[in-house]
Amino acid sequence: MTKPSPLRLTRPDDWHVHLRDGIVLKDVVPHTAAQFARAIVMPNLKPPVVTATMAAAYRERILAAVPAAMNFEPLMTLYLTDNTSPDEIRRAVDSGFVHGVKLYPAGATTNSDAGVTDIQRCMRTLEVMQDTGLPLLIHGEVTEHSIDIFDREAVFIDRILQPLRKSLPALRVVFEHITTKDAAEYVRDAEGDIAATITAHHLMYNRNAIFQGGIRPHYYCLPVLKREPHRLALVEAAISGNPRFFLGTDSAPHPKGLKEHACGCAGCYTALHAMELYAEVFEANNALDKLEGFASFFGADFYRLPRNTDVVTLQKSEWIIPDELTLGDTTLVPLDAGRSLRWKFIPHG
Ligand SMILES: [Zn+2]
Repeated sequence: MTKPSPLRLTRPDDWHVHLRDGIVLKDVVPHTAAQFARAIVMPNLKPPVVTATMAAAYRERILAAVPAAMNFEPLMTLYLTDNTSPDEIRRAVDSGFVHGVKLYPAGATTNSDAGVTDIQRCMRTLEVMQDTGLPLLIHGEVTEHSIDIFDREAVFIDRILQPLRKSLPALRVVFEHITTKDAAEYVRDAEGDIAATITAHHLMYNRNAIFQGGIRPHYYCLPVLKREPHRLALVEAAISGNPRFFLGTDSAPHPKGLKEHACGCAGCYTALHAMELYAEVFEANNALDKLEGFASFFGADFYRLPRNTDVVTLQKSEWIIPDELTLGDTTLVPLDAGRSLRWKFIPHG
């Protein structure tokens, strides 16, 4: 029997990741840096990263956690609040290392309490983003308790996103971690400069995963997993070769004890094995030839950054996802812990 040939790809980037801060950086940054050349780093720290000065300091802390043998560039973001000034946007653009501004509707997810209460309060700031071409990265869910959690993304498109893009048609938008057919179709068909990131877990699982034989906190994330037709629409978008859809893991480290908890945190940890998970999805859909565009080209093109030139390998080789990983003075449970993977990521060509 001949050995299956390995898959060689231009080195990928992760266009949406949570690295957190403090002592856990040394545990999570090496996972992302091993697979990805660059990553868009989310700003939802406590307190959130709201100025270019704070982003500069956070960037230094991340770089200090990159192992000497690895090359990794954190692409920083600011956290949009009701009070973010137009001047702060100009400083961010001038910095050269801030590549986007994140909109969290207040209360939408982990550490989003400082988020935007009403997008109308941000219009002058958003106008400067439109003028300078700095992308707005959107957590696209409404937060009203009267709206069902499974409907919040679709309602956001109608109530917030479409009116916003009508007022600011040249604002560059990344609809982050889309989870619905509605979002995939909106991004595919909308006019103007819009793209979307898609996580590995939303490509792999529908909402049954959260309830398989009992409550499964490690499959709880926000936006929450949806029904199977939505998952299928996301897969179709990811493997379509449409450059509006690209890789963003939304890998989010939470201590095991805060996931397995009466009020468990939202988030899946995939930084360790992201490319292996995406490769499984693309392989299962006979689309391995589309993985490189999705993982390595389209995000860089949207963010107007050069594509990477070095090469990585995905080898057909089984290994078991560890049950737990170190996270500072505690542990975390990676997505699909204990399961066997079919691919192994090799960080060189
Ligand atoms: Zn996120």
